Amino acid sequence: MNKNLRAAVIAGNWKMNKTRPEAKALVEELKPLVKDADCGVVVCVPFTNLETVLEAAKGSNIKVGAQNCHFEKSGAFTGEVSADMLVEMGVEYVVIGHSERRAYFGETDETVNKRLKQALANGLKPIVCVGETLDERESGLTEDVLKRQLIKGLDGVKGAGDIIIAYEPVWAIGTGKTATPQMANETIGYIRRIAKDLLSEDFSILYGGSMNAANAKDLLAQSEIDGGLIGGASLKPNDFSIICNCD
Ligand code: PEP
Repeated sequence: MNKNLRAAVIAGNWKMNKTRPEAKALVEELKPLVKDADCGVVVCVPFTNLETVLEAAKGSNIKVGAQNCHFEKSGAFTGEVSADMLVEMGVEYVVIGHSERRAYFGETDETVNKRLKQALANGLKPIVCVGETLDERESGLTEDVLKRQLIKGLDGVKGAGDIIIAYEPVWAIGTGKTATPQMANETIGYIRRIAKDLLSEDFSILYGGSMNAANAKDLLAQSEIDGGLIGGASLKPNDFSIICNCD
């Protein structure tokens, strides 16, 4: 992490886990463990947990995010949640374009772009996910895929503002396979060059994909890696706090 250049952020992605009592207990346990963390600490929780977690996190340094938002302001979109509904609750962050949404819910670069614009228009801080599949990496297509995701995903967006990008190689998510620190650093360096060209500003880029208490220090020591988007390990307060407390 290069904290004098860019903000460091460790964000947990709880995915579809935790009932409200479990969510409250997790945050209560996490609060004292991360209170001195020298980075932004964010938990991105299911919609049903937002109110509970916002309440539990009050007065602490833990910020709250959602895992998606719709690209229209309001209307006939059954089952969806809009950016301004999140903002009204006090939510600050939103994950956009997670590979699970791209794989299972038809998310495309175009819908990522529309959601991103809606999030920004409402003052949310978007964590935009990009990453290649194993096939794409093995076919030497990693850079092409990332470039396409960035050009289309960031199309028409002016300035980096509060955008955070998360590089999440799809083959590393929830698999226990992590990109080596060098590989993650190089790829994030590439993403930074492309996105900086598009947005004319620098911004934080996180690594995500099986980051855990054991491998976080090496990954976070890399100059291009400004933090992490953490799935499985964010459900374990002790492990998540170890990651948040890495220098
Ligand atoms: C994620 O869900 O964004 C993620 C990186 O998951 P995991 O840490 O479990 O690989």
